[in-house]
Amino acid sequence: MNTHSPIINFGAGPAALPQVVLTEAAEAVINYKDSGLSILEIPHRGGQLFEELLSESKALVLELCQLNPDTYDVLWLQGGGRLQFAMIPMNFLDSTASAGYIDSGFWAHDAQEHAKQYGNVHTIASSRALNYTMLPEIEAPIPNNLSYLHYTTNNTIYGSQFSNIPNSPVPLFADMSSDIFAQHRDYSRFDLFYAVAQKNLGAAGVTLVVIKKNLLGKIVRKLPPILDYQQQAMQHSVLNTPPVFGIYVSLLVLRWIKAKGIDTIEKDNNAKATLLYKEIDRNTLLEGIVEENSRSKMNVVFRTSNSQTEKELISFCKENGIEGIGGHRSVGGLRVSLYNAITVQQVEKLVSLLQQFEQEKLKHT
Ligand code: PMP
Repeated sequence: MNTHSPIINFGAGPAALPQVVLTEAAEAVINYKDSGLSILEIPHRGGQLFEELLSESKALVLELCQLNPDTYDVLWLQGGGRLQFAMIPMNFLDSTASAGYIDSGFWAHDAQEHAKQYGNVHTIASSRALNYTMLPEIEAPIPNNLSYLHYTTNNTIYGSQFSNIPNSPVPLFADMSSDIFAQHRDYSRFDLFYAVAQKNLGAAGVTLVVIKKNLLGKIVRKLPPILDYQQQAMQHSVLNTPPVFGIYVSLLVLRWIKAKGIDTIEKDNNAKATLLYKEIDRNTLLEGIVEENSRSKMNVVFRTSNSQTEKELISFCKENGIEGIGGHRSVGGLRVSLYNAITVQQVEKLVSLLQQFEQEKLKHT
């Protein structure tokens, strides 16, 4: 079997996956666990192969989060982050009630806009007027009559990340799509959290939702079963045909995380971010965009003095086997994503290219 190409993918998602995950996933497509069937063919109802992979994946999520299976349920759903933006208010925001949102970036804002269709939204803090170049401060006490408080732990597009968990007097919900399992976190502080798989957790097409069981009895309106967390939990994520392959790839990633250990992952992520920010701050052609205390360790956003230099830098990196460093189409600039599968050595390679690029440019000025 061919090994994966040597190109380094610093894209924000679909993102780089560990080599061992790619190899095992490829093997499973041909013959899953010597069953003679492809993983793409195994039955999802009544079949032991799927039952085993589903229950191992759920148990591993709870183990890595240090959560009790009596208290929390794990769901694998489809529809991506956007469906969670909608399902949360559909399930938990009555039309006469208010939910709190922290507006810290593009996705956080989009989540808030979805909620407005179902009830009232109280923006607890926002850095929108500052073009999200820093995290917003929560100033006033959070009202205790809100249905829930929603925030985004890491802002994928604007490159900021919360290091603290807000103290919330109401159920705390979080979009952890771009930094789940990237460091130690007290997951027991959350009543519901979710993450799309295509960044730190696998392949696009499946979204992890972890929900406190006591919330399942508090759904505020009658919904089609597919959109109702309680129905999804009662049917163990197989209400409809589940994305078996996507769940399997996430299981492989979860096993890889467990083997590496969150301690090591966190240590490497700190080292990677330090290396890259240090270079951005040093390099005369580059400029960080986010206020220092708000900087994300997962998505590093920066720019050059003009868009021509940016284009040249992107091409220079491409010629040297590095992809995915262009900023999101809505903001431009540059963005390097340092998800768990990216190694310290790969960041060192990028840093050395950034230095070479600077030297070449300075030679010609
Ligand atoms: N939340 C965050 C933090 C994201 O970065 C993204 C982008 N992938 C989304 C939600 C939206 O995810 P999806 O494209 O799967 O709807």
